[in-house]
Amino acid sequence: KSFEDLGLDPRILKGLSTMNFRKPSKVQERALPLLMSNPPKNLVGQSQSGTGKTAAFVLNILSRLDLSTEQLQMTPQALILAPTRELARQIVGVIQIMGQFLDGLIIGTAVPADSNARPSKMDCSVVVGTPGTVQDMIKKRIMNPIGLKVLVLDEADNMLDQQGLGDQCIRAKAMIPRNVQIVLFSATFPAHVYRYAGKFAPAANEITL
Ligand code: AMP
Repeated sequence: KSFEDLGLDPRILKGLSTMNFRKPSKVQERALPLLMSNPPKNLVGQSQSGTGKTAAFVLNILSRLDLSTEQLQMTPQALILAPTRELARQIVGVIQIMGQFLDGLIIGTAVPADSNARPSKMDCSVVVGTPGTVQDMIKKRIMNPIGLKVLVLDEADNMLDQQGLGDQCIRAKAMIPRNVQIVLFSATFPAHVYRYAGKFAPAANEITL
């Protein structure tokens, strides 16, 4: 199986080709057809970091974006929640590379920052952030969640290891439209993470590697 077989947009394939991946990794091969199916379905995936899960959820997001008007380009259509600002920045980097041939793609980062460094409006197509800052930006109407189609929670186990972050993700989710596709990845699934995943991403397809 090759990336060409996955039905990706040629501009996304072109962005992907700059990363010199020979073929889809195991998690990409299993997750991408499920993630990209229509109607969209929730996915809960077990995957260690280093297995290529970031590319899997990024390719699905890029495939689902509608960037045909300026208005759409400036309204968040996908939100990725990460446990740390470093991880959020890494994910932004992957989106920048894979999405480099998509005209009008604007990526926003929502991480803790000095108040003067914080954008007053998240006029972007994709937002990557940490749960507290995202929640705060939605509350203050800096970020408009109305156009969201995909919500990703990355590294759920790390998220739940940090005091309060799991709850913040739940609260952020409560502020966005109900019909979004929810994707949750975790390296490990001890009972408490599995229970959380079941609540956060109901009726999901599940993959374990
Ligand atoms: P991740 O699991 O998302 O943290 O990705 C781990 C590393 O694997 C990153 O450095 C990616 O660039 C790399 N990677 C992701 N997908 C592939 C692939 N299909 N082939 C080779 N390397 C990949």
